[in-house]
Amino acid sequence: MSELHRETRAVHLPVPQPTGSRPLGVPIYQSHLFSFDDADALAAAFDGPSGAPFYSRLGNPTVRALEEAVADLEGGAGAVAAASGMGAINAVLQALLRSGDHLIAQQCLYGGTYAIIQDLAERWGVAVTYVSGDDPDEVRAALRPETRILYLETMANPTTQVTDLAALAAVAGEAGVVTVVDNTFAPLLCRPIEHGADVVVHSTTKFISGHGDVLGGIAVAATAELHRTIWQQSVELGASADPFAAWLTLRGIVTLPLRMERHCSNAQYLAERLSGHPAVREVRYPGLPGHPQYDLARRMLSAPGGMLAIELHGGRAAGRTFVEALRLAVLAVSLGEAKTLAMHPASTSHRMLDDAALAAAGFGGGTVRMAIGIEHPEDLWTDLDQALTKAL
Ligand SMILES: *Cc1c(COP(=O)(O)O)cnc(C)c1O
Repeated sequence: MSELHRETRAVHLPVPQPTGSRPLGVPIYQSHLFSFDDADALAAAFDGPSGAPFYSRLGNPTVRALEEAVADLEGGAGAVAAASGMGAINAVLQALLRSGDHLIAQQCLYGGTYAIIQDLAERWGVAVTYVSGDDPDEVRAALRPETRILYLETMANPTTQVTDLAALAAVAGEAGVVTVVDNTFAPLLCRPIEHGADVVVHSTTKFISGHGDVLGGIAVAATAELHRTIWQQSVELGASADPFAAWLTLRGIVTLPLRMERHCSNAQYLAERLSGHPAVREVRYPGLPGHPQYDLARRMLSAPGGMLAIELHGGRAAGRTFVEALRLAVLAVSLGEAKTLAMHPASTSHRMLDDAALAAAGFGGGTVRMAIGIEHPEDLWTDLDQALTKAL
């Protein structure tokens, strides 16, 4: 290199490759291009999701490290990371559906997913049937020859209804229908592929990254064939994950087991204490014996999660007073953060619905959704108690 001009040497800076040692952490490969020694090797790289990286929209070593980590957590054959949960969900639905196909989806879905499905129905002519998500016979009755996907979520929001993935996926499986499960609420706690799911999606923005500093999504496929199909669509969509975002997410995964334990033990503790508070009409948490799917949750989840909902006696006004009176927990959307978050759907995300419409959605004006964080449980209780007292 030294015989070249400085201007040229500046362009062709050497890229260090450690010899004799290895980095302990996954490096950030902030390079969208990778070079090859021969044309055949480059040609082979175009072949599929496990080819050598050559252009980062199709594959990047840092992103691939994340894909392998989450595929391993979920017990899948491979994964495709995306720029957001919505990117992953779009890649999966667009990969598997064509005009004229039919999709069966659970009624109580993440709002963004519901919007995607409505778009698929209106613009693409995909027929959609919504089911309650707790009755295999309802899924069986909804099946058509052109049904391609059964779309479920491990746990519904904000009702905390737990879905019987095994029972529903079995019905879909018999009919050759692909079951897609959004497992954002229960990483590590539930492995939907073991219950018959074919594809698992996550918004890694939530528990998996866990620190509130990065957007991301991922789709894990149970088979190499599905992995390839979803990868192909993701490459076309261009919703690929950025290496730095993938790196932040990998960093979060290191503490995911510890964080999930604390989210769950805090939520269990608070759910029990909240149940005895005079301002609270009902606590919905799958770890409480009174929860409608308590037994199912024990079978399907290794712990009941970090999400709970409370219904206050005082209705809409009390819900709003409560979330505004919190001092430690914060009024914010989302979940899976170190900090405890509270949301009052009736005054924010669902403000356009009257009480009857809220009841039809399975909750009420006084429902507050809490995404329990990893703080000390006593500090959280002190905060919730003082805010509840104001909402009495
Ligand atoms: C947040 C969320 C999504 C969407 O993920 P983004 O990363 O915000 O695009 C999808 N599903 C569920 C259950 C979510 O909570």
